[in-house]
Amino acid sequence: MSAEAKKKTVVVTGASSGIGQGIAIAFGQQGANVVVNYHSDEEGANETLDRIKQGGGSGFIHKADVSDEAEVEEMYRKAEESFGQIHILINNAGIQQDSSFSDMSLEQWNKVIHTNLTGQFLCARAAIRHFEQQAQPGPEEMAKGNIIFMSSVHDIIPWAGHVNYASSKGGILMLMKSLALEVAPKKIRVNAISPGAIATDINEEVWSDEEQRKALLKLIPYKRIGKPEDIAKAALWLGSDDSDYVTGTTIYVDGGMTLYPGFVDNG
Ligand code: NAD
Repeated sequence: MSAEAKKKTVVVTGASSGIGQGIAIAFGQQGANVVVNYHSDEEGANETLDRIKQGGGSGFIHKADVSDEAEVEEMYRKAEESFGQIHILINNAGIQQDSSFSDMSLEQWNKVIHTNLTGQFLCARAAIRHFEQQAQPGPEEMAKGNIIFMSSVHDIIPWAGHVNYASSKGGILMLMKSLALEVAPKKIRVNAISPGAIATDINEEVWSDEEQRKALLKLIPYKRIGKPEDIAKAALWLGSDDSDYVTGTTIYVDGGMTLYPGFVDNG
């Protein structure tokens, strides 16, 4: 993997914190070139880049709002200018804006859909347009491009009080599968990772509070909260040629959260 990753260029969105940061560092440790996209946390993005370089990789930080078409196009233009060929997109950036359904404002709905779903569409489209310019590999050769969507267990587990978020992730499931079908003949692979509960900024109020942490652990048969590294390991594999025959699939990295944990004691 490391000799192969050394030659690869990876765009990671939302890479200034949490899961995106963990994935960007993991690819950097394999010697890859990494475009560290961030939205507002420049310090976090610089920390990611430092750790990529310490690990033997290279790259640069790039500020762009994934829901802004022009900013996404510019990010890809800059990535192409710097590295030529781009091999992998980690479509990770995402937010939550929680509310009961009746109190949910149109702004809260739009913000989450625009960032999580439209943002992943725009970045995926820029990646596909780039991959399509690359020579078509032969049937026995490896994929010429690879997209990994960051979804969530809430692409299949309904989530009260988070209808905007669950809708965005359910949308990603069909975006990923339909796109995978469309571009497979071009030898472009498209998959998703659906994390369970991973301790990051997005859910800090849950894992940092003892009572909420205990309640959360009841939903995880494997009895631990996940770490960004758990997701990074799956991303490294999906991004590698070892998974070359895998497309249109979601890997649930969730400690069993999707296994109906309420039935652990025979229901
Ligand atoms: P996080 O808040 O640490 O990371 C989200 C990142 O997205 C941040 O760096 C943020 O700056 C960035 N971002 C937000 N809006 C953006 C925009 N418009 N443009 C560019 N970047 C933007 O949280 P995280 O847990 O690392 O989340 C990463 C992804 O993993 C998200 O898509 C999230 O839905 C998904 N996820 C997380 C968990 C979990 O338990 N942590 C579970 C399932 C899915």
